[in-house]
Amino acid sequence: IKISKSYKLASRDFHPDDTIIDIKGVKIGGDNLVIMGGPCAVESPEQIDEIARLVKAAGGQVLRGGAFKPRTGPYSFQGVGVEGLKMMAEAGRKHGLLTITEVMTPEYVDVCAEYADILQVGTRNMQNFDLLRKLGEVRTPVLLKRGFSSTYDEFLNAAEYILAGGNKDVMLCERGIRTFETYTRNTLDLAAIPVLQGLSHLPVISDPSHGTGRRELVEPMAKASVAAGANGLIVEMHTDPDNSMTGDGVQSLFPDQFAALLKDLEQLAPLV
Ligand code: PEP
Ligand code: MN
Repeated sequence: IKISKSYKLASRDFHPDDTIIDIKGVKIGGDNLVIMGGPCAVESPEQIDEIARLVKAAGGQVLRGGAFKPRTGPYSFQGVGVEGLKMMAEAGRKHGLLTITEVMTPEYVDVCAEYADILQVGTRNMQNFDLLRKLGEVRTPVLLKRGFSSTYDEFLNAAEYILAGGNKDVMLCERGIRTFETYTRNTLDLAAIPVLQGLSHLPVISDPSHGTGRRELVEPMAKASVAAGANGLIVEMHTDPDNSMTGDGVQSLFPDQFAALLKDLEQLAPLV
């Protein structure tokens, strides 16, 4: 593969062994498979508590949920904000799950890091360099989503910004890219998984929910991601997807589908 290699710390040349990120005993990277599950958005204490219970019961290790939502239009639900961080932290603590949430601006990095175990950079912010620089200054692990029109080289350079600041705990997330196809919301680039693992030592997580935008495609693409070597999955699950507060209900698994998927995945790779 012809690639510029303008990044250094993210490269396997620099760090030949797989990076293993240890978060309160949950090891992400190497041969382990980490499962992150939960709603697109935190909606209420009851909603996030019930979903956390179901994620834990199914065998997941990390609760996902957005408190700050990067919506295409300004009139759409924007998330419940700092209150949502508190609701999710409480649900995670109660059910013994780590938590991951999206941070959109440098100003909110510290408060998000106070409440969440992993900070997510969304696809729209992959090249928000001020945000990346600020994430380099904290010691909270980061899940960096690939920009929907970004090359592998641009993706790894975005990771490099965080690493260069001194934060070594970065995960790469393939979440689908924009192509000419309209049937799916995005085109999940499965090849990105082995390519990124070859170029970089950082764990690679797949997001089959945003990667397809269609509930019925989440299970096959989750399994395909694991077969391709993904170190983990981030999957949307909701107890009442038809009434979820973002448009992502159409791609959210029902709890029984989430549980069945994890049961099947255990045959393919050991869960963390
Ligand atoms: C999300 O995880 O809910 C999300 C907004 O993801 P992305 O940035 O990949 O669209
Ligand atoms: Mn979503």
